[in-house]
Order: sequence, then C-alpha cells, then structure tokens
Amino acid sequence: MALDSGTTSNRCILFNHKGEIVSVAQRPFTQIYPQPGWVEHDANEIWATQLSVAVEAMQKINCTAKQIKAIGITNQRETTIVWDKHTGEPIYNAIVWQCRRSAEYCDMLKEKGLTKGDLLFGTVDTWLIWKLTKGKVHATDYSNASRTLMFNIHTLKWDDDILEILDIPLSMLPVVQPSSYIYGEADNEFLGSSIPIAGVAGDQQSALFGQNCFHEGDVKNTYGTGGFLLMNTGKKPVQSKNGLVTTIAWGIGDEITYALEGSVFVAGAAIQWLRDEMRLIDSSDDSEYMANKVPDTNGCYVVPAFTGLGAPYWDPYARGTIVGITRGVNKYHIIRATLQSLALQANDVIRAMEKDSGIELSQLRVDGGASANNLLCQMQSDFSLAPVIRPKCVETTAMGAAYLAGLASGYWQSLEEISKNYQVDMTFNSQMNLDERKAEIHNWHKAVKRSLRFAIDD
Ligand code: ADP
Repeated sequence: MALDSGTTSNRCILFNHKGEIVSVAQRPFTQIYPQPGWVEHDANEIWATQLSVAVEAMQKINCTAKQIKAIGITNQRETTIVWDKHTGEPIYNAIVWQCRRSAEYCDMLKEKGLTKGDLLFGTVDTWLIWKLTKGKVHATDYSNASRTLMFNIHTLKWDDDILEILDIPLSMLPVVQPSSYIYGEADNEFLGSSIPIAGVAGDQQSALFGQNCFHEGDVKNTYGTGGFLLMNTGKKPVQSKNGLVTTIAWGIGDEITYALEGSVFVAGAAIQWLRDEMRLIDSSDDSEYMANKVPDTNGCYVVPAFTGLGAPYWDPYARGTIVGITRGVNKYHIIRATLQSLALQANDVIRAMEKDSGIELSQLRVDGGASANNLLCQMQSDFSLAPVIRPKCVETTAMGAAYLAGLASGYWQSLEEISKNYQVDMTFNSQMNLDERKAEIHNWHKAVKRSLRFAIDD
C-alpha cells in the first residue's frame, strides 16, 4: 500500500508483487490562501483524506488489512506541521512548500509564548506516521529530513548550529530513520488490523526509486506542472557548482544514497498556459498534434520564465519571452517552441548535473503528465543525446514508496528483484542532425539570456 500525499490531493495505490497497480483511490483537499504568497493546508484534512482513500482503495477490490504486507508513505516535501503531542491537534495549518512567509511564521510562534516540550514538528510523512501509530512514533526518513535545511546531510544528524540560529528545540524534531525501515504499525482501528509502516520518502526521491534509478549516474525527470530532475550520485554527496541541490535520495540499512536535484519551475504549466491563457490548444494532449504540424519552430523560441527561472539559472527576476519571430511564424511554431522549451530546460539541468558529477548521461527515465507526449520525449532525446525511457507504469512516486516498504518487510528481497518488474513503454533515441542540434541549443541560450533579469532595471 502506497500512501501518496501530494500537494493538491491524497492518493492510495495498492501494488501487487509484480509492481502492477491493483487499486487506486484519490481525493483532493482544500488549498488555503490566507493572503498573497501564502499557502496552507489543514493537517487534519490531510490525515482524514489520506485515511479515507486508503479505506476506499481496499474496498474497491475487497481487500483486507491482512492482505497488505506493508505501508509506504511518500509526500509533498518541505511542507511542515506543528502539533500538540498530548491532544494531537495541530497548532496551526500546515505551511506548504509553496508558501513564502516562513520567517513571519517563526516570529508568530515565539510571540505566542508556546510552552517548550509540548509541541512536535514534522513534515507530512511524520504527521501521517504519528497519526497512523496513534502517537507512538515520531519519525521521518533521511530524504524528508534532508529537505528541512535543519539536517546535516553529511553527519546524518539534526544540525545543532542551524537549530540554534532558528531557535528550534531538538526535542520537537522527529527521529530520522532509513527510508526502508519498519517505523511502527498503523493501528488496527484504521484499516481493520494493524499493518507495518515500512517505507518513507519525499515525492521526488520516491519517484527516483520507483524509476529504479538505483545506480550512480541514473537520472529521472518528472514532467509535471514543474520539472524535477534527480541524478543518483551514489555514496557521494556531490556539491554543486552549477546551481543544483545536493540531497539525500534514500537510506537503506546504514547506507545512504545521495542525489543531485534540479527543479524547473514551469514545465507542464507552459502547456496549460497555451491552453488557458493563449487558447492555442483545447487540451494538453493537443500540443503534440499541433506541434507536429510543423517540422521545426521556424527560428522561434519560447522561454517560459513565468515565475523566474530555476536550476541552473536561479533568476527570480527572469520573465517569459518569445523571440525570433519573423513574418512566417504561426501558432504551430509557437506551440512547438513552447513544448520544446520543456526539453531544453531539462537539458540545461542535465548538462549541469554532468558537470557537477563528472558522469555523462547514459539514459533518461521519464514520468509525469507531460511524459505522455511522444514528441516531447523525442525532443528530449534529440537535445540530451541519450535514450529517453518511459516506463509502462508512470506512477513512479507511489511505486517508490511501495518498493521501499516492500523491501523492509520482505515482500521483495532485493533491488535486483524489483528491477525485474520494470517495464518499458517506449524508448526514444536521438535522431536530430548534430549541427542542427548545436544551433538549436545555441539559439535557446540566446533566448534565455534575453529573459534574464527582465523584471528589474539594471
Ligand atoms: P502535477 O503532478 O504537477 O500536478 P502531472 O504529472 O499530473 O502534474 O502533469 C500535469 C501537467 O502535464 C500539466 O501541466 C499538463 O499541462 C501537462 N500535460 C499533460 N498531458 C500532456 C501532454 N500530452 N503533452 C504536454 N503536456 C501535458
């Protein structure tokens, strides 16, 4: 059983031994925007919807708790909850990773003069584990801890210096455990009988695991609203010189696997923009058909820097731009250029990963909504000069959590055994002429330069 606690909805997916989906249930929860730039969730609603989808997924196939070997949890990362350990009540809404006001929140906590020692802090996994075990277990895993910026990813301990600066008592922080580990048991009240909670990982790391990127140098990209690229860097934490984040991918036993991560703020969201604001397409799927009406972008480039640019540029002042327009550029070229920007942005992150790690991309595993687009996958392979592999099961986030839990509970014995379940839907190999490729990337970088720092006057 994978509990996939996302940013807008909670899901439960049941997987069988072959790694196939046997049941799914999903329920959205409320997005709370108390003021511009603030994003909150009701932690009780997260818990209630998560539990209800677990029950629903079981009911759909008439399955009992006894048939569930273990629970794996994967979650929106960096979202935090503080609750009272006696009453179990959150003292405030969950502060969501998208929220821009963490500093003010800390001040507010202090002003309230809350009694030391009664409060527990956690990310969403911690909260769900605590609820499922009825307050018996206050824990998180390495991958989630590494995103709080309070955890020292080298010593594998909460960082005393940072805790002191932020005035956070160690007593409120969860114990950090391996990602594949028996955390405790989900109480029998909830799902009929008790089930061990045996796997925990933040969503992107879980997807890396679900994509079976078990070896150093393996890379995945999730094309969702944004784009999330992670490269397994093995036992070494690689310090980035090119704008990437060093993170823990997972811990199994006492072995830690590190990753380099690069986030592209706008990926699928650019396709939504074509649909909702520009009204050039009726549905996201149409982008492929429309882009295929022309053989190239006719010299036109779209840089979808709507909210600035993330990795590897990190420019909050960049803004979107369309350049290279001549009299012959039509809507199909603009649609194609927008789609192409997803691949070009990902390619920039891949090149940064290669530079930092010294590892050349050998293949890219893809998932997320826009990975359904064959033209996009082909473009990605053309620009990144490596095979792009789309698995049959693109629910890689939930799958990663299920695999982590299944490993700790003996449902699967080894990574090799898990790898046998991996089924490829399609592989895309690069076809573009190399000179053409070089020119496209060169022009793309010219376009990116024109979008940088646009929102400020130099
Ligand atoms: P998230 O989990 O971030 O909500 P998903 O993985 O569900 O995102 O992907 C949804 C995104 O993928 C949307 O932005 C949508 O526009 C885009 N998308 C979905 N299908 C396609 C397609 N066939 N071609 C291009 N983009 C697509």
